[in-house]
Amino acid sequence: MTTRDAYQDLYDLYSIFNVHMIANPMMELLRAQFTLEEAELAVKVDFSGGTLDELQQKTGMEKNKLKKMLETMADKGTVWIDPGVENPVYKTMGLAGPGLVETGGWGNIKYPHSVPLMHALHKFEKEFATKWLPAVGVPVTRVWLTPAALPDDAKPEENVAEMMKRSGPWGVSTCSCRLPHWIATPGDHCEFPLEVCLFTSEMTKWGLERNMCREITYERAVEILQQCNEDGLVHTHDPNEFVCNCCNDCCVMLMGHCVSGAKVLQHSEFIPRIDDSECSACGVCAERCPVDAITVEAFATVDIEKCLGCGVCFPTCPTESIQFVRRPEETTFKEHDHV
Ligand code: SF4
Ligand code: SF4
Repeated sequence: MTTRDAYQDLYDLYSIFNVHMIANPMMELLRAQFTLEEAELAVKVDFSGGTLDELQQKTGMEKNKLKKMLETMADKGTVWIDPGVENPVYKTMGLAGPGLVETGGWGNIKYPHSVPLMHALHKFEKEFATKWLPAVGVPVTRVWLTPAALPDDAKPEENVAEMMKRSGPWGVSTCSCRLPHWIATPGDHCEFPLEVCLFTSEMTKWGLERNMCREITYERAVEILQQCNEDGLVHTHDPNEFVCNCCNDCCVMLMGHCVSGAKVLQHSEFIPRIDDSECSACGVCAERCPVDAITVEAFATVDIEKCLGCGVCFPTCPTESIQFVRRPEETTFKEHDHV
């Protein structure tokens, strides 16, 4: 089998995710993430996977060699192995959530191929954000209002810190979008912190086994959330898996939302209400808003159609004029639950 054939077969496997509009960067990413032998094995393992015995039968490989290859691929983030299971199922990693979009950038600077991988991943993530995500056409994940800004009537399930409390153990990893961006374009990237991707529950166990995160306490996870908000990052995704802290310079979801105009992020349940009698029109909130939802003239006003309800505008208002209230029902759009 030629090199081209093995990677083409692997591309064909991933084509169930409708990747034709990002075919070139996808192929480049596959070549950076998989050796030729790994590409052949990943096709046989498939997304449905199997136990070691089942895969030995399927591939005809010697068992120890097969196990070693699968473990190496799992450490690279190209195979998923359920953590803490005696006879686990091994599966080829999917595309996203978690998938190849993220796993290469989660603490993965440990192989000779890591730097070329970061270049390929950055190119792939940009195309994923600006071409693949808009084609989905509906929100694929959600935004959380930062806990410090929550109004008194917020329910526990509207509080990302509260949801994370139920989902230990906790871990932190490098941002899988920011790290590739920084390495691919030195000197031409945001200045936000790198180690901000918060893992919970099974993802933490998986990340610890695969050396893709380090364990932290719940209290430290909440401190990181708060620091991210103060720095200007937006909390997104699922606190039962991982919470991203996104900027629109690097992160696929926020970049996709901002650059393409497609509503790929579901806003939180809350919107800012600005006390115009207190607002000094300093403009800090407008500068910080990642989606340009704030206009400042005599005082600041918010376009709630654009607003994500993230609370990035909240902590730096010098006159404490910003409070959050429940978003009116008619301006709510819902997350798509099948992507
Ligand atoms: S106005 Fe901007 S910064 Fe404030 S909550 Fe809305 S999207 Fe976030
Ligand atoms: S940061 Fe506060 S004071 Fe400044 S424009 Fe925004 S709401 Fe007004």
